[in-house]
Amino acid sequence: MKIGVLSLQGGVAEHITMLNRLGAQATEVRLPVELNDLDGLIISGGESTTITRLMSDYNLAEPIKKLAIQGFPIFGTCAGMILLAKRVSDSSLRPLGVLDIEVQRNAFGRQKDSFEIDLSIPILGQEKFRGIFIRAPIITGVNSGFDVLCQLNEDENVAVRQGKLLACTFHPELTDDLRFHDYFLSLVRGKVT
Ligand code: GLN
Repeated sequence: MKIGVLSLQGGVAEHITMLNRLGAQATEVRLPVELNDLDGLIISGGESTTITRLMSDYNLAEPIKKLAIQGFPIFGTCAGMILLAKRVSDSSLRPLGVLDIEVQRNAFGRQKDSFEIDLSIPILGQEKFRGIFIRAPIITGVNSGFDVLCQLNEDENVAVRQGKLLACTFHPELTDDLRFHDYFLSLVRGKVT
């Protein structure tokens, strides 16, 4: 199985390490042609404004959007999730618009803009998952057809899935816990429907 990691800006190496530890082949994606023989794609965290600009400069926005619409598995973490969303609080940002959610950037304010907390994510089992939030967004609007995988407080959605599109506002790649990436690989394999 070959998974691409969009490598324009942000935390790429940690995703590649996790994928390799799970036995998947992982490759950096910077050009449209590098999307060709992949089974799935990860869009990492970073700065969504910068990644959006680079995606358009490198002609990657349209092909990635097309793949997402065709049901290709894509996992967006933090800024990567912002890029997948349909609606973003910051109107200057033009996301890909494939995941039918609304997100609010930098939603936790200055005091709490980066923090760690144990999360309950039932699809990953009983054991808590360490959520690392770095100037994280929250998902403010979720439509039907979604699986909400994790909430922080009762109404703050921080991980969702719509078909083969998976998104979370925290950084599983910065933990030592492979379960979230493993879940994405099971989506890629078609083991989760
Ligand atoms: N605050 C960043 C943004 O809005 C996201 C931060 C992250 O990816 N850790 O793009």
